Amino acid sequence: MVTPSQLELLAPLSGVVLALDDVPDPVFSSRLMGDGVCIDPTSQMLCAPLAGVVSNLQHTGHALSITHDSGVQVLLHIGLDTVNLQGKGFIAQVEEGQRVEAGQPLIEFDADYLALHARSLLTLMLVISGEGFQALAHGKAHIQTGQPLLHVQVHAGKGDGATGHEDSPVLHSQAVLLPNPNGLHARPAGVLAQAAKGFAARVQLHRQHDSANAKSLVAIMALQTAYADSVYLSAAGPDAEAALRELSELLSQGCGEEVEHVVLAPDPDPVAHDEVSDGLRGVCASTGSAFGYVVQVAQSALEVDEHACEAQREHAALQHALARAADELQGLRDNASNPAQRDIFRAHQQLLQDPSLLEHAAELINAGKSAAFAWRNATEATSALFKGLGSPLLAERALDLEDVGLRVLKRILGVDDRALALPDQAILVAEQLTPSQTAGLDTRKVVGFVTVGGGATSHVAILARALGIPALCGVSPQVRALASGLPVLLDADAGQLHVQPDVGQVERLGAQRALREDRQQRDLQLASLAACTLDGHPVDITANIASRAEAEHAMTLGAHGVGLLRSEFLYLDRSRAPSHDEQVATYCEIARAVGTEHPLVVRTLDVGGDKPLAYVPMASELNPFLGMRGIRLCLERPQLLRDQLRAILACAGLTQLHILLPMVTHLSELRVARQMLQEEAQRLGLSALPKLGIMIEVPAAALMADLFAPEVDFFSIGTNDLTQYTLAMDRDHPRLARQADSLHPAVLRLIAHTVRAAHAHGKWVGVCGALASEPLAVPVLLGLGVDELSVSVPLIPAIKARVREVQFTACKALADKVLALESAEHVRATLQPQSLVLEH
Ligand code: PEP
Ligand code: MG
Repeated sequence: MVTPSQLELLAPLSGVVLALDDVPDPVFSSRLMGDGVCIDPTSQMLCAPLAGVVSNLQHTGHALSITHDSGVQVLLHIGLDTVNLQGKGFIAQVEEGQRVEAGQPLIEFDADYLALHARSLLTLMLVISGEGFQALAHGKAHIQTGQPLLHVQVHAGKGDGATGHEDSPVLHSQAVLLPNPNGLHARPAGVLAQAAKGFAARVQLHRQHDSANAKSLVAIMALQTAYADSVYLSAAGPDAEAALRELSELLSQGCGEEVEHVVLAPDPDPVAHDEVSDGLRGVCASTGSAFGYVVQVAQSALEVDEHACEAQREHAALQHALARAADELQGLRDNASNPAQRDIFRAHQQLLQDPSLLEHAAELINAGKSAAFAWRNATEATSALFKGLGSPLLAERALDLEDVGLRVLKRILGVDDRALALPDQAILVAEQLTPSQTAGLDTRKVVGFVTVGGGATSHVAILARALGIPALCGVSPQVRALASGLPVLLDADAGQLHVQPDVGQVERLGAQRALREDRQQRDLQLASLAACTLDGHPVDITANIASRAEAEHAMTLGAHGVGLLRSEFLYLDRSRAPSHDEQVATYCEIARAVGTEHPLVVRTLDVGGDKPLAYVPMASELNPFLGMRGIRLCLERPQLLRDQLRAILACAGLTQLHILLPMVTHLSELRVARQMLQEEAQRLGLSALPKLGIMIEVPAAALMADLFAPEVDFFSIGTNDLTQYTLAMDRDHPRLARQADSLHPAVLRLIAHTVRAAHAHGKWVGVCGALASEPLAVPVLLGLGVDELSVSVPLIPAIKARVREVQFTACKALADKVLALESAEHVRATLQPQSLVLEH
């Protein structure tokens, strides 16, 4: 007879009932995991002994637990040491989280396979959360599936330590890499839960963003941990410290299992939390902030056979893989939400067609190598070459090549490339993320990322900005030792990753984020309004672009035209120069997107020592930023410039065409280029020349602006290079990034000087470096008299909004004030919105 406070459990199998004392395994016979019965099965279908929810189904299929509505939990464990079978011999009939009825089939198992491969078939039914029970069938009795087997006392409100001590401070342990070959499966989970119950404190076990009550066997099993997973504990209550100490030790010793210590491939210098408690520093690759949980991303090595028997087959395999990779990239392009992503995948598609790569791979296949080996060899050799040239830009290309190489290699090897399964609020931590990984990120789950490698100008940084998620690059390798699952606060604006931040910090940044998002929405709605200060001073807000798609996007966001078309995009990532027709087609497409009402400023090729071209032999340089770059290279190879000018001129009638020369230092450079432009225009029979301007990015040009001004139509100030040359700081240097600040008064003085000289000769001045895209800098640039701000496409609405909020007269006073300051920090402090209120 079942009383109201009792629950009847049915036999989950047919077989012979044994007492737990007879189970030849101390973890079960000692009742460490719970009390119950054991059945030596004669059937092969495990059925539910009671109704409830499948609260945990081990991924290896050998064990599950059911939680009844009353809270009673029952663990069913088929065989002994069957976790080692890794799922072989088990077919689950239910899913985790599913509600089941008493008697419903749960797991089918192959008794013959288990008999041969596991220690024993003895199957346990343990009551792990209940108040004691009465067995209805006793030792050696035969029982059939579905017959009543136990009566369990339903407990009333007995706490399991999951609550309580809410007011106590929460302490955290260091991360532990699980040494258990099968993670915390039933046996070690039972040992941990039992040990945790010995403490009064509330104890939680964490892995990534998941956490479990460490006193609950089922909850621990439900974490589905695996070997080398990084876990940590938190505890609150009177004996929290002791609990953390002892339970961490237990975890690292394997919770009663014989284990060897985990050896990790990457070099994780164990990080003591106090070492990073002030936060890890890096370079802001994409602005914003996010609170989330560390997810360490590692790339697993692929096994490749070197030799193959049939070259024909290998050629076909490579072709097939290349075609599939190209299709995938097309899919990524089609689904990309913004032009920057599309451009990167277009570049990847081009790499797939690169003749020298394909020839290299084909030669190796003809020499008896497998397709995988040949392809890997070809991509690795080229990428090593790129890296060895000492150029940051080519190192970036090497990363693209490796990314594409891996994509094709996986297709050849038939490796399943499913997207990384991610928890919510993931902050990815990686040595380096490939562009494919970055573009493929599920932004519903990934809220930010942090990499050891990469710089603010890397493709990955560009993608992060396009995706609108905060990112830090160039962070200390220590970050790789942070446990997955650790809570962190990524404050990309401040270049910092705070480990285990306090609630106040998280809330402060959260509030700022909400404000910023509101603002973005408002700015977007008003994007088509003119950019005119409160007192009626108009400023042109144009776009920095590198593709037709970006041009189109910019115009939809209210751009007044294009202030900088970086034409390098046509020349890089390829083994031959773009043909005349290809160039013409591209410039004309962009010109049409901009239209005849607006300006299009095409900058001539700005490549050189730091951005070498495969088809233009150049000596490698010790200091490429000070070498054959921009106009210097083009004048050394005049045909390159002449061809480009002719192609650009083809779109003269489609837009208000402007041509911009990069890296100009000497007046003679401008004069030679103008001469060339005149000759090409004449050859094409053009009556009017397009406007010709120079970039002001070499301090010499800024200082000589009064002599340049009469001979140009406009200036465009490249604050990225102007800053690096003025302050003598590499623009991509991770440790100098914070100092290489374009708001340094020295840079501002050069801008002021340039504007004065230009205006004296009736010429206009734009700023197209990254400073123009910084909302904080808008008032000072206006105050210095800049006429045009050419900004990164997504920021067009924000910069226009900023212009509409300020008084031109106040901006002028502000500019005078900051020019006299002593450092960039002082300038930034003065430009903070709260200081600006005083200026109005
Ligand atoms: C600059 O130097 O500021 C600039 C706009 O040119 P780039 O970033 O392409 O060198
Ligand atoms: Mg530049």
